[in-house]
Amino acid sequence: MTIDLNKFCGGENEIHSYLRQPFRHNGQIIATNGHIIISIQDDGREASTPTKELTDLVDKIFTRTMDTYAPVSGIYIPEAEKCKHCGNPDYQDEEGVCVCDDTGFVLHQNVLVGATTFARRYLALIAELPNAEIGVSVDEKLWQVPFRFDGGQGYVMPMRVR
Ligand SMILES: [Zn+2]
Repeated sequence: MTIDLNKFCGGENEIHSYLRQPFRHNGQIIATNGHIIISIQDDGREASTPTKELTDLVDKIFTRTMDTYAPVSGIYIPEAEKCKHCGNPDYQDEEGVCVCDDTGFVLHQNVLVGATTFARRYLALIAELPNAEIGVSVDEKLWQVPFRFDGGQGYVMPMRVR
């Protein structure tokens, strides 16, 4: 199974160029949009060369582990909620981009796993990975939560909820 890493990158409108495409580091191909990061073994695919600042940050993130992981297939992920504001000028920024980033779906829709709240869209991305498991905590933690799957691993930022 080939994993589409572009789904984990920021889009073409992303202001940081290093978030626009996967990059190569330490025998891995890594992709991130700043909220979710994924790493797979280098399979020779096209990837950019990262800066030292970026790889230092990546190395720091990838040292974290958790004691308990749960299969993502066992987590109920509801259908994506459609954005009700698309096309409404009251909900567009100056460039005419909708509050949903023109995705057509509600960006803040979330799913609670243990004590941690995740954006539905990121959990759904992780669920597509083979045999995916995600770190589970009973305490709310606002640092990157690890996930792993056949062929790689990654981290996802929880959502802040009040
Ligand atoms: Zn919209």
